[in-house]
Amino acid sequence: MGWLEAFLGLRCPGCGQPLDQAVLCAACRAELVPRHVPNFVYLGSYQRFGNLGRAIKYRGHRELATLVGHKIALGVQQADWVVDGVTAVPTLLYREIQRGYNQAELIAQASAKGLRVPYQRVLSRARYTKSQTRKSLSERLALPEDTFAAKSPVKGVWLLVDDVVTTGTTFARARIALLDAGAAKVYGGAIAVKSPHEISRFSL
Ligand SMILES: [Zn+2]
Repeated sequence: MGWLEAFLGLRCPGCGQPLDQAVLCAACRAELVPRHVPNFVYLGSYQRFGNLGRAIKYRGHRELATLVGHKIALGVQQADWVVDGVTAVPTLLYREIQRGYNQAELIAQASAKGLRVPYQRVLSRARYTKSQTRKSLSERLALPEDTFAAKSPVKGVWLLVDDVVTTGTTFARARIALLDAGAAKVYGGAIAVKSPHEISRFSL
């Protein structure tokens, strides 16, 4: 029965308990609230809500991406951050092809809607080149640390969104690429972060 319930989405992706309402249970909704460190908003700890990133990634919870995207937008408003645009940390292209979307982008698009500013795809993974598609998965996973390049120059203040942030280095690299592309300031947003202290260090 467990697999069937999971397949039908009747269990809460946040806690695994039977859903008492669509998408996310009431208890998880109550816990999933904007929290701030300098220049960064997140909704909960990695230990508690890291699985929501995986649920969007592997179970296609688009409604969940919308829900968390709006909560991140709320956090931006609560902090009085004024942003001109929202963008996402790019995923690896082969994953995007397998799933048909980038989960961070789905969240970022919902945040942009909530903030009534445009969403724009600004960054791409610079080291992901065509020749690498022929390499094995393990070789691809052993790629040098991700570097990002901007597709076009940008202006103004940006919100950079990822689904979950673990070490913070990927986010930091994407943020630097956005600043290099011309962003005057970059705020960050995610569902969950593993180490809020680390992310605040990267976000200054
Ligand atoms: Zn729950």
